[in-house]
Amino acid sequence: MTQPNQHTRYKILAYIVGAFAFSFVLRLIWVYQYSDYEGFKFAGQFMINTNDGYYWAEGARDLWAGLHQLHDGSPLYEAPSVLTYALMKILPFSFETIIFYMPAFIGSLIVIPMILIGQNLKMLDVGFLAALLASIAVSYYNRTMVGYYDTDMLTIVFPVLLLWSLILALRTKEEKYLLITALEIIAYRWWYPQSYSLEFAFFGLILVYALLFDRKNRFNFELLTMMLFAMMGLPSMVRLGIVALVYLIFKQELYKKYMWYLLGVSIVLFFATGGFAPIWSQLKGYVFKDAIEVSKDALSLHFFSVNQTIREAGQIPFSIFAERISGHTVTFIVSVLGYGLLVWKKKEMFLGLPLLGLGFLAFFGGLRFTIYAVPICAFGIAYLLFTSSVYIQSLFINQNIGKVVKSGIVIFGSLAILYPNILHIIDYRVPTVFTKSEVDILQRLKRVADREDYVVAWWDYGYPIRYYSDVKTLIDGGKHSGDVNFPVSYMLTNNEEKAAKLARLEVEYTEQAYKRAEENQSVMNNTAQMTIDYQLKDANDFLDTLETNITLPSKTREIYFYLPFRMLSILPTIAQFSNIDVMSGKTSRQPFFFQSSRFKDSATTLDLGQGVVLEKNKGVIRLGTQEIPIKSFITTAYNQEKKFIKEEKLINPQGLFSMIYMQAYNTFLVVDEAMLHSSYIQLFVLENYDKRFFEAVILDPNAKVYKVKM
Ligand code: MN
Repeated sequence: MTQPNQHTRYKILAYIVGAFAFSFVLRLIWVYQYSDYEGFKFAGQFMINTNDGYYWAEGARDLWAGLHQLHDGSPLYEAPSVLTYALMKILPFSFETIIFYMPAFIGSLIVIPMILIGQNLKMLDVGFLAALLASIAVSYYNRTMVGYYDTDMLTIVFPVLLLWSLILALRTKEEKYLLITALEIIAYRWWYPQSYSLEFAFFGLILVYALLFDRKNRFNFELLTMMLFAMMGLPSMVRLGIVALVYLIFKQELYKKYMWYLLGVSIVLFFATGGFAPIWSQLKGYVFKDAIEVSKDALSLHFFSVNQTIREAGQIPFSIFAERISGHTVTFIVSVLGYGLLVWKKKEMFLGLPLLGLGFLAFFGGLRFTIYAVPICAFGIAYLLFTSSVYIQSLFINQNIGKVVKSGIVIFGSLAILYPNILHIIDYRVPTVFTKSEVDILQRLKRVADREDYVVAWWDYGYPIRYYSDVKTLIDGGKHSGDVNFPVSYMLTNNEEKAAKLARLEVEYTEQAYKRAEENQSVMNNTAQMTIDYQLKDANDFLDTLETNITLPSKTREIYFYLPFRMLSILPTIAQFSNIDVMSGKTSRQPFFFQSSRFKDSATTLDLGQGVVLEKNKGVIRLGTQEIPIKSFITTAYNQEKKFIKEEKLINPQGLFSMIYMQAYNTFLVVDEAMLHSSYIQLFVLENYDKRFFEAVILDPNAKVYKVKM
């Protein structure tokens, strides 16, 4: 294989720099659009726009501070935290600046392997155009834009890098690509532990290729051996040592004869160390999907499975699928044809199939997979554009005219391919996770709360709360299965007494469970453990005793409830997790909650939409054909001194529903008695807290914080 000459090297470098700049600068459009908007900024910098990012941010913050608390869930040793911390050490920018710009910068690195692949297949221009498209194609942009601080920034870069080294390995048979491939696999797995499915798909493809077409070539089996060693179920450092050793062995002609033994050892070790286990468990996960989780303890409690609330992926419209991969349906169809042609002409590109295949899974298994098909489709369309332009050029007898026509086709074709994606970037105005005023509240909470204190909130807010307030939480973006969501849901949607007592129990039991797990004792679900500890056999009986004078565990720390306004709209979803009878798994109650901020007011009716209408004269709520009497009508507002005020009008003592008008939010609520007395409605909506159980800490219209007095 010939090495590129000096001129080509400069050209490659210029293409990489140009494509990288293109990718990065387009990501600044969002920054420009919101440059004057202070609501998205904190500490003089934009905040991030993905919830999970606050998880890595917490880890990096604690690495920087050099401290964290036992069992606080901070990911100190996870790759994104470590990389962020390393960048903080090197770069002169603030923490907030680094995490905000990191995805745009690191995500743009995808142009490097794209251009290198193009160069290697003797189609540098194709690689360049493909790099431009891949770097800004809809789904790739969405998940590597500024502020999208999550593992996504490298989850596509790594497999494209792997594609590059595998193509070179097969083309050149040079030993260095054995090592490079193995190192990429280790780095990819370190960054993104779920990477095994793609690694395994690449492995399978090379295995099939080697067995069918190139059986005599030892190099292919050396490559497979190295991949297996890199993919074993052992710590990164151990695998690093092993692949370095095996590489050195493969480099010695003398030891070549042991290659088959090494392959055998790698297969045995791969299975023995559980290398196949994650793939197997994923396959099982697809086959058995349960709606109800049953806890593995003496009581076999039943919990609501979180899978049920996540919208089932289902079939997505073809146009959306195509637009997310290529920006436009036409581009997508042409790019698939182009990829076919590319594989026909440049056989090594068949190695793109795992990425394309995973991307196509999106059509059945959820939009988030489309991102994987982006780089392969980009190669497809870029290749087709250049090949067809060369073909058209050859139709002209006059060479100069032919050249002009060719350039015209390439330029207009490129613009047409990129244009829909650029339009998408301009239109894609995603907000930050929190607003400045919400973060201000969490910062105030940080000054009040101790790092060992717990904050009770729905799991959506877990990571950001931990990041901004540096406290502990019961549930978060990674810990939200039915059994842990149950108590939090129960606290938020039951009365204050039950909420405060269960909060104390749940927090102390959670800490106790960590300790027991550390001492290798068996740990059962908290709710089951509490039931047994209170000498009951039925968890429902235990939950009922919360309203009696039970002895609570001794208090080791404070507990706060964080109740944001934004939780209002998801209250029905939250309630689902505790509307279940944990003993039988059946739905136990269905509290009524209806929210509307788009309504039509007339002299006799108030139409709240979705068939919910208040008959003013009759004092009833009409739900379709049903008429339900209103008990009371409550109005909340802020007066001129910004003081919270409320007014309650009793309409019918026998009424079943109550109406609440939250003037400051221009929102109407219709709730039944159970919902009305839920801690969220009482504490957040009405500020009607029972001083025996709660103490107000922060009362802001955006979010309210209460301390548990138990
Ligand atoms: Mn902490």
